[in-house]
Amino acid sequence: MSPTHDLDHPAATEHGAAEGGWLRPAVFGASDGLVSNTALVLGVAAGQAEPGMVLLAGVSGLLAGAFSMAAGEWVSVQAQREAHELEIQRERDHIERYPEEEAEHMRRILGAAGLPADVVARIVAELEGQPDRNLDFHARIELGIDPQALDSPWVAAVASFVAFAIGAIVPLVPWVLPAGAMAVPASMGLGVAALFGVGALLSRYTARTWWWSGLRQLLIGAAAAGVTAAIGALLGATAT
Ligand SMILES: [Zn+2]
Repeated sequence: MSPTHDLDHPAATEHGAAEGGWLRPAVFGASDGLVSNTALVLGVAAGQAEPGMVLLAGVSGLLAGAFSMAAGEWVSVQAQREAHELEIQRERDHIERYPEEEAEHMRRILGAAGLPADVVARIVAELEGQPDRNLDFHARIELGIDPQALDSPWVAAVASFVAFAIGAIVPLVPWVLPAGAMAVPASMGLGVAALFGVGALLSRYTARTWWWSGLRQLLIGAAAAGVTAAIGALLGATAT
């Protein structure tokens, strides 16, 4: 990625280490909470459940989903972190046992990146005798890992829990308020607006336009909710 590209897309600089790893789980958590609970609430409502039962199902869906997302994020980020720590440990061993081979390897990488030989020699000489900085440099250049900024599994877990809960609350709002017969259309309307909003927000981190991204998210969510509501209506009709 060229520096010009970064300037054209300021959002690109907000990625990665600087935000501590909460953004990705938060965005996907909010989207998941919204889609799954809109589908759940409309499915239960379509089965002719009492408003109190719809609310109970929605709150259970919120908690079950938020805990499940948080647990999944924790395991996934922790596993990735352990894999990175192992790679860094192996690199440390290599540098200790084969310092000259590692220096030569670094010279080749920097040379291949187009740096002049005298600059490469200065960088490698500068890092010699500074084991911590040397390892840090090797990790960044060879492994593409910043040892100072490994994602935290707890940050990812809390971010996805909170974001999922916020997304999942949206379709529940009409069932808490005395919306009566308006609860189903209100739930649908809130779900539709929020799905579009989340999709439009996602476009900040993709190459898509906001309206396309919003529309896509809306259609995917609506399809999930539509199928769930249809099955809920079928099961509700046979159960009564
Ligand atoms: Zn190395």
